[in-house]
Amino acid sequence: MILVSACLVGVDCRYNGGSNLDKDLLDFLKNKQYILVCPEQLGGLPTPRYPSEIVGGDGGDVLAGLCRVKDNQGNDVTEPFVKGAKETLKIAELYKARTAILKKRSPSCGSIDIYDGKFHGKIKRGKGVTAALLEENDITVANEDNYATII
Ligand code: SF4
Repeated sequence: MILVSACLVGVDCRYNGGSNLDKDLLDFLKNKQYILVCPEQLGGLPTPRYPSEIVGGDGGDVLAGLCRVKDNQGNDVTEPFVKGAKETLKIAELYKARTAILKKRSPSCGSIDIYDGKFHGKIKRGKGVTAALLEENDITVANEDNYATII
């Protein structure tokens, strides 16, 4: 069983109400067992919602209580981000998923780099909150660029 970011297969769960449909990924998933998750919706955030970034660290730092997640209006959304990560982990454990393909650069789903917390489109090395929690629990996280070499 593979966990997959719902936005990557066409679910309109992005902050702006759209998706990140990746047709190559959809082809790859044919005849495989997978389950869709959107950590931000699982954490209780609405769609559409303001875009958020991790300020002053990455997802592992958020989980350790060292930094926060904020939206571009300055609202602290750390709590729903952490809740969404925990709910996603719960689903992974229920379905015994050992791998995930999650959207790159997202403050929830990013597994290599994320936006830098200043809302000006620049990225930095680091993981999103959900990707960090999954990896802390020995679940391998790939993204839409590198899944073919990892999964
Ligand atoms: Fe939801 Fe993750 Fe896609 Fe964001 S990147 S819309 S949290 S599945």
